[in-house]
Formats: sequence, C-alpha cells, structure tokens
Amino acid sequence: MMDSLFNFASLTVEPFTFVVNPQKRIYWGYLLSGMLFAVLVLWLSKQNLRSAFVKALGPKVWLHPSSMQDFHWLIFNHVLRVLIIVPVIGGSLSFAIHLNRFAIKTWGEGNFWQVAEWQMLAMFTCALFVLEDFTRFLVHYFYHKSPLLWRFHAVHHAATVLTPITLYRIHWLEMIINSLRSLIVVGTLSAVFIYCFENRISIYDVLGLNIFNFLANTIGANLRHTSLWVGFGYFERWFVSPAQHQIHHSSAEKHIDKNFGAILSIWDRLFNSWVPSREQKVVQYGLAGQDVNVPENFLASFWGESSIPIVKRK
Ligand SMILES: [Zn+2]
Ligand SMILES: [Zn+2]
Repeated sequence: MMDSLFNFASLTVEPFTFVVNPQKRIYWGYLLSGMLFAVLVLWLSKQNLRSAFVKALGPKVWLHPSSMQDFHWLIFNHVLRVLIIVPVIGGSLSFAIHLNRFAIKTWGEGNFWQVAEWQMLAMFTCALFVLEDFTRFLVHYFYHKSPLLWRFHAVHHAATVLTPITLYRIHWLEMIINSLRSLIVVGTLSAVFIYCFENRISIYDVLGLNIFNFLANTIGANLRHTSLWVGFGYFERWFVSPAQHQIHHSSAEKHIDKNFGAILSIWDRLFNSWVPSREQKVVQYGLAGQDVNVPENFLASFWGESSIPIVKRK
C-alpha cells in the first residue's frame, strides 16, 4: 500500500525531470539552444530583446492561471500515460512484428531487396519523418474540422499565455488518439520495411531522437509556445516557424484554422491553411470571440470544453 502510494507520488513529480531527458521537447539543451536562436533572430530583426523576453517568459506568464492549467495537464497526462496508455496500447515494435507475421502468412515470404546499410538508414529515417509529420498534420486538421474533436482539442487552444509547457496542455482523449496514431504509423511503416527488405531497420538518431526531430528541437521548437516572435522568412514555405504556430493560437478571425503543421509546412500549403508570419501580428491567444466559456480550472475541462456547441465549424 505504502509502496504504491510512493510510486504514484513519484509519478506525479516525474514530469519535472523532463528537463534532463533529451527525448523530451523541454530538455534543457533544447530550451537553451532555442533561447540562443531566439536571441539571434530577435537581434537580427531589431526587436527589443529584454522586453521581448520579459513579456514572453517573465513571472507574470509562468504564474498565470492558464500556465497553472498547463502544469495540471502535464502531470495528469503523464500519470495516465504510464499507468494506463502504455500498458494497454503497447509498443509499436510488437505491433510491427504482428503485422509482419500477418503479411508473411498472407503473401508468403518477403525480404525482396537488400540495400547498403546507409541506404536503409537514410530511407527509413526520411520515410518515418515525413509520414509522422504528415499524419500529425492530418490528425491536427481533423481536431479542428470535426465539431466533436474540436471540443477536446480546444483545451490546448484555451491557453491565453504560451510557455513551452503549453505543449503538454492537451486533453487526455487527444493524448490517447495521438498515441494510437504514433503506434499505427511507426508500427505499419516498420512492418512494411521489415517485410520488404532483408536489412535490419534502424533510424539515424541523435540522443535517441530521429535526426530531423532533433534538429527541429534544437532550432527552437520550444519557441512555438512562447510569445517570442521568431519567423523563418522565405523558409516558412518549407518549415513551420514558431511565429506561425503562434498564429495558429491567435484568437483573431483571420488566423482561425491556419498553420496546422508540426515541422513541415508543405501540408498547410496543400490544404490551403498556410499563413506566413510576415506582416502578421498576434494580439491575443486563446478562444476569445469564439462563443466559448473557457473554464478557469483543470477539472472543469476534464470532459473537454463542454460550452462549445457541437455544430459544424467554418
Ligand atoms: Zn490546433
Ligand atoms: Zn500549440
């Protein structure tokens, strides 16, 4: 009894160790490199560094009720993930092995090709990155377009201030859907490669992350959930900048349902939801003006933002 109470208590404080875990977005190294990148961009774009940083990351932001909700979701979702989601959903590797067995039973032995190890590494790393990024975009798109799913995704958009912790402010149902998406995508792609090639599959990783995700984290993925206005200029045609995700969080009518992308912005261009940050300005984050009564505490939004009517969105 005491043991399980102790385990539960340690689970609730575990999210605070994410800052020393390089597989987590809020790892100190990514926070630091992101800040340095922001300093460089803000300095080049002649913004006032001191006031931008105080406004974005000062105590007023961290102690804001919206940030408190972010922390509640961070802790709640972590406990839920460790105690229920991971044991029930399982890992993508066992999913891939089952799929591979099914493919062999149905179509006979695979292993059609063998390629050099570096070719396999390059192919699998790129395929996984592109497929993960596209399916993330697609699921995000449906969170906004489905009136029912929007109720749950609105928990993330109800944040009125942004900090790197806002990344973890997602409704538990959204977290379950995201975990399933990841399991299916990683598992299926792995199974296809295992079935088709004689090679062992592997990804090119740095600190346990796909090299592309590592680069995105290093170049400032954490800045997306801050008010530091960091745009990528011409490169926003290919990569989502922090400022573009801030536009995604903007409550202004013209910014609603724009910039769904995670890392690549080509999907937004294909789906007509791409807005570059140049000549844009975000005045307010959140759901103001959308006829939503956002509850000021975590428990009130436990079943989603229930004041949102389930009617077709524009
Ligand atoms: Zn969204
Ligand atoms: Zn966000």
